[in-house]
Amino acid sequence: MAEELRRVETPLGPIDYLLTIKNVKNINLRIRADGRAVVSAPRRASKAGIDRFVRSRAEWVLAHQRRQEERSPLVPPEREAALAALTAALERMYPLVEPLGVKRPVLKVRFMTSRWGSCHYTKGIVTLNTALAAAEEELRDYVALHELVHFLHPDHGEGFHAAMDALMPDWQTRRRALRRYALERPPT
Ligand SMILES: [Zn+2]
Repeated sequence: MAEELRRVETPLGPIDYLLTIKNVKNINLRIRADGRAVVSAPRRASKAGIDRFVRSRAEWVLAHQRRQEERSPLVPPEREAALAALTAALERMYPLVEPLGVKRPVLKVRFMTSRWGSCHYTKGIVTLNTALAAAEEELRDYVALHELVHFLHPDHGEGFHAAMDALMPDWQTRRRALRRYALERPPT
């Protein structure tokens, strides 16, 4: 089994791919989780033929790589940096709910794989995901406000939606934008 890193020029731009020659019947192209295009090909296939095969699928390869880039996981910054960024988000959003009687919560930050944030409304604690600190400011603000509004509406019912609509009219757009990141579930 021989491996070779190759590059083909295509009308859409160059494509680098890792070629493996092995006992397979057909040329096989896939995109690895890290975005690398990998091709396995039988011994009888010519390099020119393999390049041509990859070139013919350039659109598919590049579209796939783009999608994976868009969904790449957010890498949390160092804890201190995450705490600073998330504290700032909570400070920006808190004045929106303070007039509604929400007491200033205690902020906790930690890395979570399944949620962006959570609210312990009986204990006055908001927990935000450290990975969120790597997202855009408007997305950090959305999650912070989402959790703060849970002090008024613990569930995601009509009252919750109405409060979010009033305080952050584009919150649904921000929630959708969060989906391009690797934590797939919306905050709860
Ligand atoms: Zn929620």
